[in-house]
Amino acid sequence: MDVFPFEIPGPAYRERQVRTWIYRRAARSFLQMTDLPLGVRTRLAERYGDVRPEPLALRVADEGATVKALFSPGYEVVAMRYRGASSRACADEEQHVRPGSSDRRTACVSSQAGCGLGCTFCATGQMGLVRSLEPFEIVQQVLWAADVLGGTVTNVVFMGMGEPLANYEASLAAIRSIHDDVGISARKVVLSTVGLVPAMLRLAEEPLPVTLALSLHAPDDETRSRLVPVGVRWPVAECMEAAHAFRGAHGRRVTIEYALIAEVNDHRWQAEMLAGLLRGTDMHVNLIPLNPTAGFPAHASARVEEFAAELKAGGVNVTVRDTRGREIDAACGQLASRAPRKMERAGST
Ligand code: SF4
Repeated sequence: MDVFPFEIPGPAYRERQVRTWIYRRAARSFLQMTDLPLGVRTRLAERYGDVRPEPLALRVADEGATVKALFSPGYEVVAMRYRGASSRACADEEQHVRPGSSDRRTACVSSQAGCGLGCTFCATGQMGLVRSLEPFEIVQQVLWAADVLGGTVTNVVFMGMGEPLANYEASLAAIRSIHDDVGISARKVVLSTVGLVPAMLRLAEEPLPVTLALSLHAPDDETRSRLVPVGVRWPVAECMEAAHAFRGAHGRRVTIEYALIAEVNDHRWQAEMLAGLLRGTDMHVNLIPLNPTAGFPAHASARVEEFAAELKAGGVNVTVRDTRGREIDAACGQLASRAPRKMERAGST
């Protein structure tokens, strides 16, 4: 799948010039590309408009260290800067990057506008799917985050809106472009899936050293299917087998994402069951306090520390995720779901 969406007239080196402007020189418009003839610049600008779309809405928190943007037709991206050992993750990011790294700049990107998988606790799932994004729309999110973060992104997490494996070709094409064109190693890219088993197995076969995060959210099929409807089709055991296949193929540790919900998936027996699933593996659990959403009548668990301790007692590595940027609706889908009129003005659904 070709990521670069522009047809550049003239000799081949013209396209290389345009690529350099877009990926390395942060050009927003073709008119800025001053080493192209004026006529070429003008024609490209007339045909394609700006290289970078303008956000429909912006939110800033943490004294500028967290910035979230909403783009048409309704997808979000979060740019986050972490300094020093106090770094903790935001509502939709994780701990795949070592705490203590001196200056970490993360783009949390969306692979779809909305999502059709309908996880009951998720603001994006409550919106439904608007459409899957094109690869360049995903790459543009990284470029936008780099602008916001002073020119550099060190890490990319596919933990924004959408299920990246439901937009498989575009997500992988975007990751290749992020690696080849933007210059961020695929090893610094985390792809989070809710457990689309055939796509996980396909990903295991790809020569692409991304990090995989599996959003499990419950160790038992009954609870998981209530939270994650695709759990009916692909039970926990199959998800874990696919995660092991990925681990075996790439030698890269898989993270288990687990949003803790009061009286739903935070019982002691569930911690023990999860520990049993993970015992003897190097999988790491990332516990996430639930982000409240209007469409899900449940609460964040008050047993986060206890649940973490129960997992540790079962021999499992666990991190409790901090929730950066909640005051700006940093959980995926929350800004979009609160800005419908802006999206309508932009012509989306
Ligand atoms: S949790 Fe992920 S897969 Fe589930 S509805 Fe939300 S965006 Fe989609």
